[in-house]
Amino acid sequence: MTLTETETQRLSELAKRHLWMHMTRMGNFEDQEVPVIVRGEGPYVWDARGRRYLDALAGMLTVQVGHGRQELAEAAARQAEQLAFWPVWGAGHPPGIELAARIANLAPGDLNRVFFVTGGGEAVESAWKLARQYHKAVGQPGRYKLISRAGAWHGVGMGALALTGLPAVQLPFEPLVPGAVKVPSTNFYRAPVFADDYEAFGEWAADEIDRAIIREGAASVAGVILEPVQSSGGCIPPPPGYFQRVREICDRHGVLLISDEVICAFGRLGHTYGAGRYDYLPDMIAVAKGLTSGYSPLGALICSDRLMEPFLQGTSTFTHGVTFAGHPVSCAVALANLDLFEAEDILGHVRANEPVFRAALGTLEDLPIVGEVRGAGFFYAIELVKDKATRGKFTDEEADRVLAHLNAGLFDAGILCRADRRVDPGIILCPPLICGPEHFDLIADVLRGLLTDAGQLVH
Ligand code: PLP
Repeated sequence: MTLTETETQRLSELAKRHLWMHMTRMGNFEDQEVPVIVRGEGPYVWDARGRRYLDALAGMLTVQVGHGRQELAEAAARQAEQLAFWPVWGAGHPPGIELAARIANLAPGDLNRVFFVTGGGEAVESAWKLARQYHKAVGQPGRYKLISRAGAWHGVGMGALALTGLPAVQLPFEPLVPGAVKVPSTNFYRAPVFADDYEAFGEWAADEIDRAIIREGAASVAGVILEPVQSSGGCIPPPPGYFQRVREICDRHGVLLISDEVICAFGRLGHTYGAGRYDYLPDMIAVAKGLTSGYSPLGALICSDRLMEPFLQGTSTFTHGVTFAGHPVSCAVALANLDLFEAEDILGHVRANEPVFRAALGTLEDLPIVGEVRGAGFFYAIELVKDKATRGKFTDEEADRVLAHLNAGLFDAGILCRADRRVDPGIILCPPLICGPEHFDLIADVLRGLLTDAGQLVH
C-alpha cells in the first residue's frame, strides 16, 4: 500500500492539526512532515511513499512475531464476529478463560491467577494496588510503599509514574503519589562501588533494597518492583545472584516481589518470562506488549495463589477494574500469538541467535564513542561516552547533537530504533524476534558509519 503524494501530505497536515503524538515534541513538526506508517510485513514497515524501514524497535518492544501476520489478523476477525466485546466483570468468555489458563500454565511456581488489564502501566498500577489491598486483607495495613530502581520506566499513570525513576518525566506532574522509594540500578558500567567485582556489586545493589526496607520501616513496605533486565538506562542485566538475594531479602521482611516484565516477557530474553531466565520466583509478574505482539492491546498481572487467597472468602473483593481488560478480541489474538510462538519455536530462535546479535553489535566496541554494549536476548543497548578511557560523559548539548545525528541518520538509512538520553545517552535495539543475522549485520553496518561520524562531532 503506497499513498499518492497528495494523500500523504493531507494525512501529515491532518496529523499536525489533530494527532497529539505521545512523548513527542510537537514543535518539531512545524517545518517537517509527520511520518505516516501504512503497512508492515515481517521485520519491516513501509511509510506512505513506499519507503521501507527495518523495525529495530519492534514497534516499541512489542511486535515479537513480526508485522503482517495473517494468523493474528484472522484470529481477531473471527473473535470480533463471534463476540466482539464482553467485560471480565462477573463473567468470563472463552478466549479470556483459555488465555488466563495458558498464561498461568506457562508461569513459574504457583503464579496461577491472571488479572487482565489493557497495557503495561495498568498492570503496574494493579500490582501496587493489589500489594496494598492484600496486606490490608492479611492484617498489615501499614504496608503501602513500593521500592523501585533509579532510572527505571514503569508507566505513566500516577502510581506507575511515581515508581518510574526518571525526574524529567515526573517533575511536571508533582506532587507524585507518596510511598515510591528508589534504590540504585544494577548498571555495573557506572558502579559507584565494587567497580571491579560484578558479584560483589550485585550483592551491594541487592543489599541497597534491604537497607531501603529497614530505613523506611519494613512494616510500611508492601513490595519491590524490578524488571529482569532494566530497559531505561540501557538494557541493564542483573548481576549473578542478584535476584536470588532480592528474593531472600523480600521474604525476610514479608515484602512482595513484583517482576515488571512488560518488555522482558514473551521471548524478548529467549524465555516466556524473564524470571525464568534468571531463575527467581516473584509474587507477581506484570506483562503486556509482546503478549499479543501488539496486534491488539492487552496486559495482565499474573499473581501467586497466596495473593488471591484473602479474596476468595466472604464478600472480599479486589476493588479494581477497567472496562476493556481482557478484551475478547485481544485475548483471541494473544492465544494465536502464543500458538505462533510454539509453532515457530520463537524462544529457541532467540536463544540460538542471541550470541549472533551480541557479536554483530560487539563489532562496534572498538569505536571511541561506544562505552559498553550490554543486554540479553534480543534486547541490547549501546551506552555512548565522550571519553572511553575514563567513561566520561557528554555535556547535555553534546549529547543532544550526537543523538540528533544518530536519530536522523538511522531514519535516513531506513532503520527505526531509539537513541535517547533518558538516563545516559545510548541506543536501544530490540528487533522483532523473527530477525536473524542479515538484520543484525545491517544494523551494525549502519551504526558503524553513524557512530564514527557522531564521535567526530564531539572530538
Ligand atoms: N513497564 C515497563 C518496564 C515498560 O517498559 C513500560 C512501557 O514501555 C511500561 C511498564 C508501561 O507500559 P504501557 O506503555 O503499556 O502502559
